Amino acid sequence: MMHEPTSDALPAQARKALKNTKLQSVLEAVGQLFPLVRQAAVEKLPEFDALRDVAAQIKDHTFANLDFYLEAFEEKVERFGGHVHWARTAEEARQIVYTICKQEKARKVIKGKSMITEEIDLNAYLEDHDLEVVETDLGEYIIQLRGERPSHIIGPALHLTQKQISETFVEKHEALDPTRSMEDPQDLLNEAREILRKHFFTADIGITGANMLVAETGSAVVVSNEGNGGLSMTMPKTHIVVTSLDKIVPTLNDAATILRLLARSATGQELTTYSTFITGPKRAEDTDGPENFHVVLLDNGRSNMIGTEFQDVLRCIRCSACLNHCPVYTSIGGHAYGWVYPGPIGAALTPQLLGLKQARHLPNASTFCGKCEEVCPMRIPLTKMMRYWREKEFERHLTPGTTRFGLGAWAFLARNPRLYRLLSACAAWVLKKAAGRKGRLVHLPLAGGWTNARDMPAPEGKTFLNLWQDQKKDAAP
Ligand code: SF4
Repeated sequence: MMHEPTSDALPAQARKALKNTKLQSVLEAVGQLFPLVRQAAVEKLPEFDALRDVAAQIKDHTFANLDFYLEAFEEKVERFGGHVHWARTAEEARQIVYTICKQEKARKVIKGKSMITEEIDLNAYLEDHDLEVVETDLGEYIIQLRGERPSHIIGPALHLTQKQISETFVEKHEALDPTRSMEDPQDLLNEAREILRKHFFTADIGITGANMLVAETGSAVVVSNEGNGGLSMTMPKTHIVVTSLDKIVPTLNDAATILRLLARSATGQELTTYSTFITGPKRAEDTDGPENFHVVLLDNGRSNMIGTEFQDVLRCIRCSACLNHCPVYTSIGGHAYGWVYPGPIGAALTPQLLGLKQARHLPNASTFCGKCEEVCPMRIPLTKMMRYWREKEFERHLTPGTTRFGLGAWAFLARNPRLYRLLSACAAWVLKKAAGRKGRLVHLPLAGGWTNARDMPAPEGKTFLNLWQDQKKDAAP
């Protein structure tokens, strides 16, 4: 059954996640480990920042000439015997994939990890059409068994503890001895490997995403740490790459530049274990490879972003650095965001893909600390994007009445500085009195969200402006 987005319920989902102690322990580790390994990898590459500039320029140049590079890619794929299918919408992409499966009389599909197939909810669609779909990335396989969706872009099952995964394997792998040892993570890995191996040999179709598409050669670039991507491409008779048009880069050199940033930003590796460049179906001289090669190129509203204030978000290479450094993501996890792309990248991209009505909470779920854009390898101005969406939310009257009133009142006061100074001085004085000798406010009218979780320190009793003026007077000769 297809999944419905629940991004409009982010506040309630976030509250639930904050109470989930297992999730909180996992998120704490995510927020500590990933930034450390990224930092260590970045420090070993002095030209890291220069590479970020070059990578952003590569993508900007590509978007300025998008039609040219996409057509060049299509021409190369077809020259090597493959096929390119253009899909304007998620529905078109799903139908194209299903039509290929029908043509091939397929019964079983194996998949490498792909966020675009999550975006179009492909597994559910194919299963609704009586195809067996098996995820072969370990994290994706685990959440498929549990009927869940990914909570992290590069670690789909990061929200789970080892114990939860062991319980899932015991429950779902019914043919195996339920008393077998599941203590060691290696036991889990071996079991998944054993089961997946059979599927690699019996699948009719392999579906993968693509981290990049190279216009110069017609190649799809797929990176993975498990080798399942390579097997999903080469073992079945037909390989379908389901990807989006923003993945295109002009040359192999450009792809290599971006690969140097990707793994360092994602997992702190110099390069991902497997970086596969696949170009068309198997040739006569090849020892392995698919007989049929298809690329489904999804737009899904992305071309509308070209030339707008949202274009920069298309530079994203889904490394997850912004998630791993985000104080909001590392507090509430990915599922609270209610759809495929969580964290700062989700806040910038999801409103475009799902509409602002469904996704309006996402750009507001930010402290604006700016850490996300500080670490983004593609120099995407994520906080600026979130601010744009907040403006659009206000313009379209989607902002709640109380917030609109508050912003309107603040705007009025900001235009009347004397009144602003008078009222803020009164408020500071009243709050100081209310805090009493404890110096902390336990309840604050209209700001219960703050005081529910922590006390508010009492103001000085003077405004910042008063204090500053006092200081100037004291400093005067
Ligand atoms: S926005 Fe930047 S940091 Fe976040 S996933 Fe995309 S490339 Fe990585």
